[in-house]
Amino acid sequence: PIAPAAPATRRTRQAQVAWGSRVVTVGGDAPVRVQSMTNTDTQDAIGTAIQVKELAIAGSELVRITVNTPEAAAQVPYIREQLDRMGIDVPLIGDFHYNGHRLLQDYPACAEALSKYRINPGNVGKGDKRDRQFGQMIEAALRWNKPVRIGVNWGSLDQELLAQLMDENALRAQPWDAKSVMYEALITSALESARFAQEEGMRQEQVILSCKVSGVQDLIAVYRELAKRCDNPLHLGLTEAGMGTKGTVASSVVLGILLQEGIGDTIRVSLTPQPGESRTQEVVIASEILQSLGLRSFVPSVTACPGCGRTTSTTFQELAKQIDDYLRAQMPVWRDKYPGVEKMKVAVMGCIVNGPGESKHADIGISLPGTGEAPAAPVFIDGQKALTLRGDNIVSEFHQLVETYVEK
Ligand code: SF4
Repeated sequence: PIAPAAPATRRTRQAQVAWGSRVVTVGGDAPVRVQSMTNTDTQDAIGTAIQVKELAIAGSELVRITVNTPEAAAQVPYIREQLDRMGIDVPLIGDFHYNGHRLLQDYPACAEALSKYRINPGNVGKGDKRDRQFGQMIEAALRWNKPVRIGVNWGSLDQELLAQLMDENALRAQPWDAKSVMYEALITSALESARFAQEEGMRQEQVILSCKVSGVQDLIAVYRELAKRCDNPLHLGLTEAGMGTKGTVASSVVLGILLQEGIGDTIRVSLTPQPGESRTQEVVIASEILQSLGLRSFVPSVTACPGCGRTTSTTFQELAKQIDDYLRAQMPVWRDKYPGVEKMKVAVMGCIVNGPGESKHADIGISLPGTGEAPAAPVFIDGQKALTLRGDNIVSEFHQLVETYVEK
């Protein structure tokens, strides 16, 4: 027998990112989590709270906000308060660079309102100063009982470490190529910082790691190696993935490959939004990646054929879009009312060639008539032909059938 393909299981330790009674587990037996980041100025507390809410409603289970200035740090408790008031309990992550040690110490209400701190080992000072500043951030994490993410990024890699590894490499009998040294520097930076955090008292499971790069093959190489060398929960994402189709495709490809190997406990799709495009798009894409791999289910899936010369009308495309929009719109209500509805499969097909076959594989499916076929649309429910729709109201009648199916 040919076994169906499935993502590999790789058990990491499990971090807990919490706000109030909401605990989002990351790693271990938890599902791969979707997270995202705001692009508002954190000083604009209302604007930031609104965007966090939008991201959370779109499905982001953790939301990161920039905390870059004293003014921004001062607003964090207020942002949290606004969210609590709106009934949004998504944990907030503070993204710190350069001055995080000071902000976490000077603004205890900010340190408390955040549920996790992101530390960039590439910019927390240098030499002894680095250890002191890093230590201060860990001290805050311990004091407030928060997990941290040690987030290495090759755009801000620890240059001293890189220089040291390049010097060591030069002494090798057979020196590595420059890329290998770079990969090693990224991984070493993450692992040494994790070790330091543990020496300061952090439990290993509360230290999430990431090593982000912007090249697909580079990210695969780095994460495969990182996963071999530690069992900390891993935050996975292609940094600076870019805009539109390019960013979407690159992120989907690389996350798909690594998630299939069991690598990655929480993901972020870093898209540059087009002017006017909603930030929530990256959450939708991250969720779709997980659903496509069969790792999670968020919304019922609609299978639709691309259409071809056999379909001169656009009815089936319109119907597919309508059904997809309808199912997504209903999910906030359906999720609690009809547990398991997110696993439902609907097929909307353009003609008799693949229509009936694909419809039988779905929970409910319709095969619309293609050119030259009789004007009839057979509907299949639970793999059986249930009825045939005819006339001008096929779209609304199928819509009704889907609704009835969900209720039943
Ligand atoms: Fe074309 Fe029919 Fe295949 Fe759709 S199912 S792509 S309409 S042949």
